[in-house]
Amino acid sequence: MTGPRPAAVPDGRRAELAEGLAEVRARIAAACDAAGRDPGDVTLIAVTKTFPASDVRLLAGLGLTEVGENRDQEARPKAEACADLPLTWHFVGRLQTNKARAVAGYADVVHSVDRARLVTALSDAAGRAGRTLRCLVQVSLDEPPPQEGGGRGGAAPSAVPRLADAVAGAAHLELGGVMAVAPLGADPLPAFARLAEVAEAVRRDHPSATVLSAGMSGDLEEAVACGATHLRVGTALLGGRRAIVR
Ligand SMILES: *Cc1c(COP(=O)(O)O)cnc(C)c1O
Repeated sequence: MTGPRPAAVPDGRRAELAEGLAEVRARIAAACDAAGRDPGDVTLIAVTKTFPASDVRLLAGLGLTEVGENRDQEARPKAEACADLPLTWHFVGRLQTNKARAVAGYADVVHSVDRARLVTALSDAAGRAGRTLRCLVQVSLDEPPPQEGGGRGGAAPSAVPRLADAVAGAAHLELGGVMAVAPLGADPLPAFARLAEVAEAVRRDHPSATVLSAGMSGDLEEAVACGATHLRVGTALLGGRRAIVR
């Protein structure tokens, strides 16, 4: 049974998304099979950046509950437009401290905590909003490791334990685990293996920090092989993104 749908949504879009979802689910199942893992232990986050709120609505209708966005300007109105849906919003992009307050208003999980100043800003913002924010420490897998606040985002592995402690100790934050993006142009497998070691070290100090967010459209198999619990998939689900002209 299908309900009424907004006229602006092309009829084929739902079928397209259903097909993308089936393909991604099949890839996850195969990767879990190869790794001897239970697919139930892997959560799929649909990264809907550059796609309209109508797509988020269609994905929710197909049973997806986790949505990821990487820019506040785009995420905020989209989350508002979908406020009636039972969704968990993941903020996965680089985050400036001056956006912390806005993001703490709608995000449930922030994947990109990579410096101490951001921990303070997010905790203050969450407190003001009367919320608790789940945070992941973003780990840079680039070689050589970046300076604080430099590179493409993410803290150097050596800085991660201290940041994890800071998140865990912040009044309005909860430490969920770690996140990373594979280095550009490098084999993702050794990078994700390194990430798994960092994740394990964090879990030793913080046993409830079990989230390992890794793997995108091009490398979800390698991420599953290395123990990823959360995959952030855009293109393989929603199709190619057009260049953002803004
Ligand atoms: C865009 C994005 C993704 C999804 O990338 P795809 O290759 O389209 O699957 C995942 N993680 C982050 C941080 C992103 O910015």
